[in-house]
Amino acid sequence: MAEVEWQRLKAQEVRALAEANAVVILPIASIEQHGPHLPTMTDTRLGHEVAVRAARKASGTRPVVVTPVVWSGLSEHHMPFGGTLTVSHATFRALIGDLVAALVRQGFRDILISNSHGGNMIAMQQICDELSASCGATLVGATYVTEAGEDLARHLEDQKGVMHACEAETSMMMVCEPGLVDSSDLASLTQGMEGGRFLAAGKASYRWRPFAAITANGVAGNPTRSTVQKGEAILEAGAGALAALIMDEATWAVPADLRGAGTGGVAFRSR
Ligand SMILES: [Zn+2]
Repeated sequence: MAEVEWQRLKAQEVRALAEANAVVILPIASIEQHGPHLPTMTDTRLGHEVAVRAARKASGTRPVVVTPVVWSGLSEHHMPFGGTLTVSHATFRALIGDLVAALVRQGFRDILISNSHGGNMIAMQQICDELSASCGATLVGATYVTEAGEDLARHLEDQKGVMHACEAETSMMMVCEPGLVDSSDLASLTQGMEGGRFLAAGKASYRWRPFAAITANGVAGNPTRSTVQKGEAILEAGAGALAALIMDEATWAVPADLRGAGTGGVAFRSR
């Protein structure tokens, strides 16, 4: 099986991947509290796992290389529970912008920013908006949980989707880092089943709140019936969705340009 992890390759092997127009997966995640039973690296570890599995699935169609995970994400809302590292939006944007520029300078043109942390989602989209006009690459931002959608959620029994330190994340960590999951009392941990509502106000408005507004122990969801089998199925669903995204030519196609010759007798400027 071809190596897909950037940091395990020699420089000339990475140059050859750029020459072959490989897709780069740039995973972004977090280091933050994940309840009393999961390690702080949960999002970073799962982001790595899903990205590497996706790359292996897609690399029969097109070469793919996965960079190390950008672990420094936006986790201000988890700070009340400790164990959490966070950076400012400006730092996050600058870091991803610099890494994208480094990829483009050595010839990569199709970059998938693969996110595994809910707190990064809005910023990821903003960063794609901001960089796309000038970076010289096609940027696609994906969060595996939402990209996989129902294919992933159907493996859950006690939740509608992935929450935090929950049925899904606990199951996946049982696969990836079994020695770091404390399964001794999962039945007592369920909290915050209302999930994303902690960031809502009114009928359809947004209000920032800390995660402590919905949970006493840092968990949001029900980890009680987490299993290795469930974790494996969820990881495969997430990786399959990212692989399908990578292999779909429409993901990377040049956007249509439907402009005519001009209006009012004045031509449009070429981009
Ligand atoms: Zn998480």
